[in-house]
Amino acid sequence: MYNGFKDFLSGELTGIRESGLFKSERIIDSPQGAEIRVRNRDVLNFCANNYLGLGDHPKLIEAARPRSMSAAMDCRRCASLRHQDIHKKLENKLGEVRWHGRRDSLPSCFDANGGLFETLLKEEDVIITDALNHASIIDGIRLSKAKRYIYKNCDMQDLEERLKESQDARFRLIGTDGSSPMDGSIAPLPQICDLAEKYDAMVMVDDSHATGFMGPHGRGTHEHHGVMGRIDVLTSTLGKALGGASGGFTAARQEIVDLLRQRSRPYLFSNTVPPPIIAVASAAIDMLTETTALRDKLHNNTRYFRKAMTEAGFDIKPGEHPIVPIMLYDAHKAQDMAAAMLEEGVYVIGFFFPVVPKGQARIRVQISAAHDGDHLDTAIAAFKKVGKSLGVTK
Ligand SMILES: *Cc1c(COP(=O)(O)O)cnc(C)c1O
Repeated sequence: MYNGFKDFLSGELTGIRESGLFKSERIIDSPQGAEIRVRNRDVLNFCANNYLGLGDHPKLIEAARPRSMSAAMDCRRCASLRHQDIHKKLENKLGEVRWHGRRDSLPSCFDANGGLFETLLKEEDVIITDALNHASIIDGIRLSKAKRYIYKNCDMQDLEERLKESQDARFRLIGTDGSSPMDGSIAPLPQICDLAEKYDAMVMVDDSHATGFMGPHGRGTHEHHGVMGRIDVLTSTLGKALGGASGGFTAARQEIVDLLRQRSRPYLFSNTVPPPIIAVASAAIDMLTETTALRDKLHNNTRYFRKAMTEAGFDIKPGEHPIVPIMLYDAHKAQDMAAAMLEEGVYVIGFFFPVVPKGQARIRVQISAAHDGDHLDTAIAAFKKVGKSLGVTK
């Protein structure tokens, strides 16, 4: 029985290889940091979600340690689906310190999005969603019976058209990434909120690539744009800038959170976040509440790198986010460039279909507060050398 299917799968894989879209996984043999070990070589890491450099921060490792030991010893901590005191404490911190008075639930962000739309919206409702939204938002919407309208990426005229078209709906929710994981572009939240108000819709933001570092206190794109009180639902991850490597949350208006706790399927039917990760996220939030130093360093690094790369003649999407997309358009070229950069001791990844649209291949650089000036200069020099040899720059 399997033989026929095996041939079919082999054909699919050959097709992926031939179109330059095959992704080989590189194994990292060291802790996360500015310098990592890949294939027995020390290289600079420019492709991590470790925006604030918290991935190997001693304070956070220390925070995880006692919890993980007690977790190992106390099987109630490992084997329970249910929330415990430490989860509640973190939820309150996320709610009160970071998000002003709202409380939160805690699956992964993929699960937060997976449980959100289906729980809140039914057949008579409408979700209006940005065309380039993250896969977890798209999948979450698929699970809901609400009608789906799509507006062009960050196009406010198109969003207004969709709002006009959907006036008959009972409730409407506009859903967007706060910042795009592939472009680093930041959603025009003030305009989205204005349109939502004008047409009586709600707003949902997934801030996975912004929590911890966007906005004056690192609360996210809603703080960056000064619309903190105007977002109805915010989902995000504990696994990127907050250094936990996993875990997510939903911060929303009280009744929304209350209902999610009753009905969100990933919240009810999947294990909760493990105690060491709760401890790490909690310690990270305390650190980020005390000082903006890491966030400030990240943004200085980002400005420095973007300026130098633009001056070197690379086609980079303008912006201020630490995700810096270096546009190459061709998937083979993106693969070649990533391989050549690794030869130069700089680890970056090429992104191509299906994670970005066809013909939009790129190197996605991620700047971190873990990078020092020397790291940035080494990476910029390597890009210049490789860019010339591949004919990307003159
Ligand atoms: C990474 C990411 C997620 C998934 O987060 P997890 O907590 O790892 O499930 C969801 N949404 C966006 C926009 C992301 O970038």
